Amino acid sequence: MMQRIRDFFSAFLLVELVKGMMLTARHLFARKITVQFPEEKTPQSPRFRGLHALRRYPNGEERCIACKLCEAVCPALAITIESEQREDGSRRTTRYDIDLTKCIFCGLCEESCPVDSIVETRILEYHGEQRGDLIYTKPMLLAIGDMCEEQLAKDRAADAAYR
Ligand code: SF4
Ligand code: SF4
Repeated sequence: MMQRIRDFFSAFLLVELVKGMMLTARHLFARKITVQFPEEKTPQSPRFRGLHALRRYPNGEERCIACKLCEAVCPALAITIESEQREDGSRRTTRYDIDLTKCIFCGLCEESCPVDSIVETRILEYHGEQRGDLIYTKPMLLAIGDMCEEQLAKDRAADAAYR
């Protein structure tokens, strides 16, 4: 009975409406946090998981040794690797594709790589217009790695103590 009386007065005095207006008033003069993307951007973590890249060593040799750990660990089955042995006995990929329509950006490929080859960059602005545009091939991934190497090396150095 008491609850019904309380509900009646609460509805009669528009308590919920007043509470809502008070909340609006509290935020009216607070600092605004809306960002005018893409002109303004929020800070990114060194662990940001964006578009993938394949890295090289400073002498230009690709880091990937075709161990296929990243392919095995990927929960989305987004990575496809084919490999062969070179004349010098080392193993290298002949095909390294990532299907970004399947990728869930979990970062497991990056974590599993023993030579810091497959990594995720800070790039988040990319798109595909046709079927297949979001399948990134080895030359594309290496080109992204070459473009972002400075930032990638800095990010890995910043995070080294926690790995
Ligand atoms: S980020 Fe995750 S889902 Fe995407 S390719 Fe790597 S392991 Fe697969
Ligand atoms: S990217 Fe790393 S984990 Fe994947 S096949 Fe190459 S060396 Fe192995």
